[in-house]
Amino acid sequence: MNRPTNAISTPDAAKTSAVPRVVIVGCGFGGLEAARVLSKAAVEIIVVDRTNHHLFQPLLYQVATAGLPAPAIAGPIRHILRGEIARGNLTVLMGEVMSIDTASNCVVMDGGEHLHFDHLILASGATHSYFGRDDWAKYAPGLKTLGDAFTIRRRVLTAFEQAERETDLAKREPWLTFAIVGAGPTGVEMAGTLSEIAQHTLHAEFRRIDSRRARVILLEGAAKVLGSFPDDLSQRAKEQLVDLGVEVLVGAKVTNITAFGIHYDMVDVAADGTSQTVSHFLPSRTVIWAAGVAASPLGRSLAKSTGCEVDRAGRVIVQPELNLASHPNIYVVGDLASAKSYLDPKNPTVVPGVSPGAKQMGRTAAKNIIRRLQGKEAGAFRYLDYGALATIGRRAAIAAVDVPFTSIKIKFSGLSAWLFWLFVHVYFLIGFRNRMLVFMDWAWAYFTSQRHARIFIAPYLRDTHQTVARSEPPAPPPPV
Ligand SMILES: Cc1cc2nc3c(=O)[nH]c(=O)nc-3n(C[C@H](O)[C@H](O)[C@H](O)COP(=O)(O)OP(=O)(O)OC[C@H]3O[C@@H](n4cnc5c(N)ncnc54)[C@H](O)[C@@H]3O)c2cc1C
Repeated sequence: MNRPTNAISTPDAAKTSAVPRVVIVGCGFGGLEAARVLSKAAVEIIVVDRTNHHLFQPLLYQVATAGLPAPAIAGPIRHILRGEIARGNLTVLMGEVMSIDTASNCVVMDGGEHLHFDHLILASGATHSYFGRDDWAKYAPGLKTLGDAFTIRRRVLTAFEQAERETDLAKREPWLTFAIVGAGPTGVEMAGTLSEIAQHTLHAEFRRIDSRRARVILLEGAAKVLGSFPDDLSQRAKEQLVDLGVEVLVGAKVTNITAFGIHYDMVDVAADGTSQTVSHFLPSRTVIWAAGVAASPLGRSLAKSTGCEVDRAGRVIVQPELNLASHPNIYVVGDLASAKSYLDPKNPTVVPGVSPGAKQMGRTAAKNIIRRLQGKEAGAFRYLDYGALATIGRRAAIAAVDVPFTSIKIKFSGLSAWLFWLFVHVYFLIGFRNRMLVFMDWAWAYFTSQRHARIFIAPYLRDTHQTVARSEPPAPPPPV
């Protein structure tokens, strides 16, 4: 395919451009992959992201738990796409897209600018859902962005510092109690790593407290941890968590979160078989939210302007080709899309919200745009599932791997799964330097138990939640 001859350097050139313009919103896994495929075609591409970096979310918990510095898992979008920018048909703009004006084929930016598109790929991902209790967000941060990771790192390390300062033993306990809500992959890896920090990293560095006495409690509303894994692997994961010192509470439904702790209900079964729901209160100054995911608000905004359907999490229900029936020039990919795979056209399957899904969707959407520009038919999305991995902590992980092009599934856990997890995550990181950095940091941490990214700025006094928690008396126990 011919390259555009009129290299375009400003977005305003769209209307006079000889080639169609594709706007990609979001440069995560889906958006980046789409940009790379499209950059080889005769189109003008504008990539818009509200941050200046592409983020490798699967290792975000390592930044939150001070194991890795932020630049090891994130890179400037401009730098990652510098080859494509040099080819002359790709522009990167940093800014937030607020809505889509489908009447004029424009995305509306945070400054009110309208950016015209001929084709649009929406890849703005997902955010946290507090199930209608957004007031919990300030007490229980979720983990989705680097900002979230820095907040969690600060709160966790501040809690140990506060415990060392606190002379009243009863008041010290809640500082040394860490509650994680949600036992999906993020909750499990956070819980396992926090326990390691308390057991191994910090214990020789404090005088008044014994960090090894810290409690890490993982609360899950469902009956098992890592619910998307087979039962035997889920059970193995629970055992590995317990071995690492994590207290696992399944069937625990969180009813409230305050600056002083967490309220939850659990069903208590008596010896005679009768059961009743009992309310509990766990005093804790550090609560982490890993329970709910909602699609980026751009999904609902798109639904408003096009009439397309969204599911309960706000994900856009897309056609097999990943676009909208009413607006075939608008594609939605990654965590924002509710998509099916047509690998077996007679038996379409739901695509999970994971990075390989987002990357493959980004690639398919880009190829479909190119096919349509060539006058060919767009193809249905076919997802190649390689299985699932979850790490729990040092030498602890589970894996359910699908052998490509066969129906064979291999399940394993423990050290071998952990080594496999390490290899996969280092391999998929962007950039040779980052792979080296992460590999060296992990090797060092493995032999020394140290975590070298323990610096945080903005002292606790600036953190409203922890300031309130220190200066106000503990909450009264809840009514039983
Ligand atoms: C903590 C955590 C751990 C995970 N672990 C794993 C794992 O181990 N394995 C795995 O396969 N998957 C994992 N995932 C899921 C995986 O990261 C996602 O499925 C994947 O990132 C989805 O890609 P995406 O392109 O749809 O969205 P994202 O990668 O989230 O990218 C969205 C991009 O859009 C930008 N954006 C959002 N809104 C706007 C806007 N309005 N305007 C402009 N830009 C916007 C964001 O800044 C971001 O760059 C994890 C996710 C998290 C949060």
